[in-house]
Amino acid sequence: MTQRIVVGAALVDDGRLLAARRSAPPELAGRWELPGGKVEPGETPEAALVRELREELGVTAEAGERVPGQWPLRSPYVLWVWTARLRPGSLAPAPLEDHDALRWLAPEEVWDVPWLDQDVPAVQQALAHLGLT
Ligand code: C5P
Repeated sequence: MTQRIVVGAALVDDGRLLAARRSAPPELAGRWELPGGKVEPGETPEAALVRELREELGVTAEAGERVPGQWPLRSPYVLWVWTARLRPGSLAPAPLEDHDALRWLAPEEVWDVPWLDQDVPAVQQALAHLGLT
């Protein structure tokens, strides 16, 4: 089956990384992730990232650079990560539908939250790419 891309955002502000706690589905609830979601057919990953951040967090963001690497999710999905930042004047992120908490994590706090297993290597790579390790 063709690989389907899920985009995750390494959204950074003032040297802190945004982590979002999932509220659903039950098997993922309580675990933390880079916010994002599935790229729709005909959509670029960058556009999907901006859309997902608007839908999930109510923010206006822009995609930066792709973080090298890809991480397997449940087939046929694969996680790709972009750096991202809030556009000036964006509202502050708020948990809307899929999440029930957000944290801006300083580098020394990043591993204080239980990330989804598949996000752990992606977060490691994103921090290295951002020079936050
Ligand atoms: O948010 P959405 O439900 O569109 O995400 C699609 C799938 O990608 C979910 O099954 C979720 O578990 C996974 N995902 C992930 N890590 C992320 C974002 C999404 O594993 N950072």
